[in-house]
Amino acid sequence: MSRILDGTAIAAEIKAEVAEDVKKLAEQGIKPGLAAVLVGHDPASELYVRSKVKTCGELGLFSEMIEPPETVTTEETLKLVANLNAREDVDGILIQLPLPKQVDTKLLLDSVMPEKDVDGFHPVNAGRLQAGRPALAPCTPSGVVEILKRSGIPIAGQRAVVVGRSDIVGKPAAMLLLHENATVTICHSKTRDLPEVTREADILVAAIGRPGFITPEMVKPGATVIDVGINRITDPVEFEKYFAGDGKRADIFARRGSTIVGDVHPKAFEIAGAYTPVPGGVGPLTIAMLMANTVRAARLRRGL
Ligand code: NDP
Repeated sequence: MSRILDGTAIAAEIKAEVAEDVKKLAEQGIKPGLAAVLVGHDPASELYVRSKVKTCGELGLFSEMIEPPETVTTEETLKLVANLNAREDVDGILIQLPLPKQVDTKLLLDSVMPEKDVDGFHPVNAGRLQAGRPALAPCTPSGVVEILKRSGIPIAGQRAVVVGRSDIVGKPAAMLLLHENATVTICHSKTRDLPEVTREADILVAAIGRPGFITPEMVKPGATVIDVGINRITDPVEFEKYFAGDGKRADIFARRGSTIVGDVHPKAFEIAGAYTPVPGGVGPLTIAMLMANTVRAARLRRGL
């Protein structure tokens, strides 16, 4: 039987630690604050931002949601961020992606001061992470490492393979694993003989964005498989491809008309020694690490 790595429980543990830290800071008159910028009405983005703001409230952080109109220009958003950069009560700035087409996303993300870049997307933080200096690291990859560490999965000396090389997940995940002394290989769409490479992994991280891409033949028996993927499926035929025989999932699918599948085929989890399920694996860690980053930013900015 493969071991399930319970991301929800680990996220709760991290959030409890953050709440404790927030209490300690309150004794010094400090209340860490997060400003979230949400443009437009993408339902998934709205849901994410609202749950981030709600979690701030639960843990005792100050939060503010800023919702400029969908027609906002790059210049207007740059001014808005400049204002947040200057505000004393804001320790973290989060810009929910995607932004409308007319807004220059890169320019805007780069305008967030690195000390308040709690998403860890700024090139200064990416560089600091690479150089092994204190940095605000991206939340999802940090969550991957937290799951491994808190589950007692050894990382040092292990062969880690990360499939995906995006700036927000794959690359920073690989860098964080390298800092933990894993021997790391990064794969991408041009990698030759991918299954051969993934089969070498003691720790396999899938961050691809393709439902069920990692099949059982791609997993070394007993490996730890971390599934970062979040893919919504609505087609009943596709549902059967992944979840045939899973009555509980079938009920949810029938009720909602959709379900979420990761980048790892559920059958591949059976080969693994341990794995993160989808949902309930890496996903919950992203918000927990955002909260941790905001408190860290509050401390770092004050030299604490
Ligand atoms: P991107 O689309 O930015 O990157 C996908 C990566 O997968 C690319 O590097 C791409 O390679 C690689 N890839 C695509 N096809 C193949 C293939 N056939 N073989 C090997 N590699 C391939 O996605 P993200 O990194 O932003 O996200 C990855 C997944 O993680 C998504 O499902 C996303 O929803 C999820 N996610 C989950 C989060 C969470 O909180 N749990 C947070 C963020 C993302 P190439 O570079 O060559 O194109």
